[in-house]
Amino acid sequence: MSTTANTTYTTFTGWVDPPTDIRPPLTENLTCSVAVIGGGLAGMATALRLAQHGVDAVLLESEFCGHGAGSRNAGQLASAPGGDIQLLNLLYRKQMPAIIRLTENAACHVESMIETLGIDCDYEATGNVFAAVSRGQLGRTRRIAKILRRAGAHVEEGTARELGIPHGFLGGMREINGGIMNPGKLLRGLRSAALASTVRVFEQSKVVDIVRDNRGVTIETPRGVVRAEKVVLATNAYAGEWDITPKRLSSPMWVTEVETEPIAPERLGALGWTSRSGLITQHNIMENYRLTSRNTIVFGVRRIERAAGYPLPERHPDPAVVTDLARAFARRFPPLADVAIDRAWGGWIGITSTWLPVAGTVGDDVSYSLACNGHGLAQATYIGSLIADRIATGITPDDLRTIWVDEPNFGRAVPMIMGRLGLRAAWAADRFNDMINGSKRNARKGFATVPRSLRLPA
Ligand SMILES: Cc1cc2nc3c(=O)[nH]c(=O)nc-3n(C[C@H](O)[C@H](O)[C@H](O)COP(=O)(O)OP(=O)(O)OC[C@H]3O[C@@H](n4cnc5c(N)ncnc54)[C@H](O)[C@@H]3O)c2cc1C
Repeated sequence: MSTTANTTYTTFTGWVDPPTDIRPPLTENLTCSVAVIGGGLAGMATALRLAQHGVDAVLLESEFCGHGAGSRNAGQLASAPGGDIQLLNLLYRKQMPAIIRLTENAACHVESMIETLGIDCDYEATGNVFAAVSRGQLGRTRRIAKILRRAGAHVEEGTARELGIPHGFLGGMREINGGIMNPGKLLRGLRSAALASTVRVFEQSKVVDIVRDNRGVTIETPRGVVRAEKVVLATNAYAGEWDITPKRLSSPMWVTEVETEPIAPERLGALGWTSRSGLITQHNIMENYRLTSRNTIVFGVRRIERAAGYPLPERHPDPAVVTDLARAFARRFPPLADVAIDRAWGGWIGITSTWLPVAGTVGDDVSYSLACNGHGLAQATYIGSLIADRIATGITPDDLRTIWVDEPNFGRAVPMIMGRLGLRAAWAADRFNDMINGSKRNARKGFATVPRSLRLPA
């Protein structure tokens, strides 16, 4: 961790501290039925479900379970697909009802997992709101609501007051299922459940190679080898580190979240945020805002940075990105413009080439999934457990069939759009629209407002 005057920049997450009981690495050669690689949401959900089926499973994690995006995200449990829903509707119109069934089931699955495992992660079933900051965005939320409703989603539209969201937003659409939580606590709870189960968990065991032959799969770590009948790859943004991974399965991107200092309850109360729903703006690259149980606001994204290549580095957020986020906060919450940012962190997410979660196999014995696209809190977890069901029963569950890839042949379009230039252009277009909308708003009010900026490191 490094600190500046006001803000702590961490290479892990602001939600929780790393565990103090990290498990020893694999230092022997062993065999198992199924080896799961990656101790994130997908990997732990897969391993736990395999254990419930009575399958002998080994879980290999390079650092400690919960080290990845799972503990670092905004904690907004979404029930709609990630990405641009209008685009998804263009590309997958016929499949939309099945996609919505999957994404809503995913949110419900995580809610019931939290309850069944008794995980204290400050979960609040508030739903999440696609919140508009301009008339243009309001029109977009209306079009999206229409698409989602037609596909069977549970959504409701309204003004800011009707949705119980802060006065700085115009209104929008709430996904009724899902809510907000402390994701670090969720991952800690899943880790405890995995350690208490029959799963053999090895942390500090980075998988460096995976080789298939006619007797099974060999998985190499620096100090030990696992021979497994089947393997599940669940490393999200890191998936491209091995030759065995299908090409262009995942485009790794760095995204940033920050948390304010604690805010007096009466100041939070004055915002009009009565529903406590998490918020997602409708920019090309979204801003997200949410309340926490510690009277702070966590917010983030707005800029996405493409990875330069593998291996993905351990890193801090860029102070320039944190400054940009602070500017946005002051604009969306003018009464809180004097509030300081206490901490900043970030993480690697994997964007798929289809904009949808994907899952499939390489040969018969290596399963992979990538369910991130910024909505993996629900979807990576659910799809992980469906993959376990498929391995244990030999039957592909319907929701898994919806995103199943028979032949991994992922296109180049998304990786190109999400290139450095494309991401910069999207950010610039968002700022231009913000500027135009700000001027229009001020013209309507008859004066010019310049938000005071948050207290930030120099
Ligand atoms: C800042 C941020 C904000 C986000 N906000 C949201 C949100 O609000 N809502 C939402 O739904 N989603 C959000 N996401 C996305 C969500 O966190 C991810 O989709 C989800 O965590 C993916 O889960 P996963 O298990 O696939 O991957 P991860 O949680 O990243 O886990 C992968 C694991 O694999 C391990 N690993 C990697 N390489 C190896 C190797 N070679 N050997 C062994 N282990 C390895 C890693 O250490 C890690 O523990 C956000 C992500 C970030 C980074």
